[in-house]
Amino acid sequence: MRFDIISVLPALLDSPFAHSILQRAQKKGIVEIVVHNLREYADNKQKSVDDYPYGGGSGMVMSIPPFAKCIEALKSEREYDEVIFMSPDGVTLNQTIANELSCKGNIIVLCGHYKGIDQRIRDIYVTREISIGDYVLSGGELPAAVLVDAIVRLIPGVLNDETSALSDSFQGELLDAPVYTRPADWKGHKVPAILLSGHESKINEWRHEQAVARTRKRRPDLLGE
Ligand code: SAH
Repeated sequence: MRFDIISVLPALLDSPFAHSILQRAQKKGIVEIVVHNLREYADNKQKSVDDYPYGGGSGMVMSIPPFAKCIEALKSEREYDEVIFMSPDGVTLNQTIANELSCKGNIIVLCGHYKGIDQRIRDIYVTREISIGDYVLSGGELPAAVLVDAIVRLIPGVLNDETSALSDSFQGELLDAPVYTRPADWKGHKVPAILLSGHESKINEWRHEQAVARTRKRRPDLLGE
């Protein structure tokens, strides 16, 4: 799988992709993540990628030509399954969308800034618009990193057994059960005895009960209640 991320501030994405699971997935050759500096596709001398909004009003708008040039260049090299624009007015990201996108091949991700991007970029090139929640951030880079992380950890071979995604919250209709590690007794706060019993089927049963109870309490909507 390959991600091409188009950004005016690529440095914002250096760290998220250079550590932990995302770094490992790239090293293993399972995923390729390429960040493109939008300014390199600006033809004007100042390398500017934004302009004043038609009709007036506050904030600058990212213009079409640099995005068009970068997207066209990428599309001339390979086929893309999706061109995703990170946007607060898009569909809110969830595990179902992450699962679906983890089965794709090549994805372009556009990061906006300022007031946003010229609507025509969205009309012409974008196949999907995704939000990471009902709040506004200053740029699409952190949302893009969130999206890529949520997708990549689901690709077979990325996580090992200890970190398997299958028991995570939202993977089924249940939240994850509580987890514990050593020490078994910390200043009188004890780990539930069942987890020390070694009785695998009883432990699984307990975890399921805990997951159901937690889901019912925190997210009854997931149970359709
Ligand atoms: N004026 C726009 C917000 C622009 S914020 C509006 O009200 O909808 C600048 C950029 O940050 C956006 O173009 C988008 O790429 C990114 N961004 C901000 N909040 C986001 C969110 N919740 N999810 C995804 N992207 C977001």
